[in-house]
Amino acid sequence: MNIPELESIQETVAKIKRKEISVVTLVQQHIDLAKQIASETNAFIIIFDGVSNTEEYDPLLAANILDEKIENGENLDELELLGVPFTAKDLYLVKNTHTTFGSKLMEDFIAPYSGTVINKCLEKGAILIAKCNCDPWGFGGSGENSGFGPTKNPYDLDRSPGGSSSGSAASMAAGVGYFSLGTDTGGSVRQPASMCGLYGYKPTYGRNSRFGIGVMGSSFDTPGFFTRHVEDTILLEKVMQGRDLNDATTDDYNLHEVKKVDKPVIGIPKEFFDEGINEEVRSAIDSKIEEYKNNGFEVKEVSIPSASYSLSTYYILVPAEISSNRAKYDGVRYGKKVSDDYETNLIESRSKYLEDEVKRRIMIGTYVLSAGYADQYYKKASKVRTKLKQEFAKVFEEVDLLIIPTSPTTAFKLGEKVNDPVEMYLADIFTVTANLVGIPALNVPIGKDSSGLPIGMQVMGNWWNDFGILEFAK
Ligand code: GLN
Repeated sequence: MNIPELESIQETVAKIKRKEISVVTLVQQHIDLAKQIASETNAFIIIFDGVSNTEEYDPLLAANILDEKIENGENLDELELLGVPFTAKDLYLVKNTHTTFGSKLMEDFIAPYSGTVINKCLEKGAILIAKCNCDPWGFGGSGENSGFGPTKNPYDLDRSPGGSSSGSAASMAAGVGYFSLGTDTGGSVRQPASMCGLYGYKPTYGRNSRFGIGVMGSSFDTPGFFTRHVEDTILLEKVMQGRDLNDATTDDYNLHEVKKVDKPVIGIPKEFFDEGINEEVRSAIDSKIEEYKNNGFEVKEVSIPSASYSLSTYYILVPAEISSNRAKYDGVRYGKKVSDDYETNLIESRSKYLEDEVKRRIMIGTYVLSAGYADQYYKKASKVRTKLKQEFAKVFEEVDLLIIPTSPTTAFKLGEKVNDPVEMYLADIFTVTANLVGIPALNVPIGKDSSGLPIGMQVMGNWWNDFGILEFAK
């Protein structure tokens, strides 16, 4: 499939202001492209075209209003995303529109309000054109758990674009939208970004509001996003960040002092380079590190001893949070009603409509939280999480940022891992740690393998030093 070049957001906004292109024309172009690639990629749950669906949100109407303001010569300097089309993972609530969370159970759900991050983008003049396919509530690493079928990677339609923000990544690679909102609980923005040649950013936990986003694991979830240019990531984060009274876990980034350095000291945590990395991925990262050394950066080997427990810790704590967060999907408040009897309804609605991976995580989560096992699993894993945080804090006394792979391989074939959950979980080995400790992390596209598939490298930074890693990537 064609992977078109895309201008930066700033260039596009400037063009719109110079009236070289109208917002309506630009938005229509992106809607047309979305429709053109929709069936081939299965990247979308819904495309808002003002025609083929009954959603109350109409991007062309919004575009028209902006064009009128431009025509009238209004001062639009505050609209940093003026007329910029974007897409969002179907976990983001948008008032009066369908939000499925990637699950059949929620197929008919209409969002009663919009989330904070969506609102911030719209207020700055961006135009939402589609909601993207994803693994249900973000449970997955390939897009194949979606209740609406797998998404395909535009670089090779037989391969997965990664997951769980599969449609976001695929649509961005295919040239639809200038950015896409995803969610990253254990890598769901960074890993698909790495498989689709994009920048994929996960903020410090608490920096961007989770309000109005379908919940996976409350203490892990972060609203992240995909871009083609890291300058766009910087611009967007300035729009999205900030404390939100609707999300008590957010905090004011201004309250957190970050160390400003001209040339950051780069740490290479040896535990992440031990084994299991595809050779081409490894050598691409090695040559990047060599390049930094040649450019006068200090590069140090460091150690995070507990990193080898990250994956097992994640796959205990996240299912625990998932299982308790699923309680509200009882077919009464949320979900599909199949019977008037409460208990029958509860059992049948969930049995029939929840995808297998959702059931698997509820079962694992319930197990690790159950009276006889909570100490052995949940509490122990929580202790490892604390230990990991301490180890990272110590390492960041020595270095300013860390470089590791994003994914052990480039995009894998659809069907290759889907029948083996453990094999699938292993694809997350390099991404889950940042969520366990809450630090910011970014996938940087650094090249292609011999089959032309994108390779990604991950840059992680100290808590709240999000702009440190973004500026470094720039
Ligand atoms: N692949 C990971 C999982 O399935 C991460 C998911 C995510 O970040 N939403 O748990």
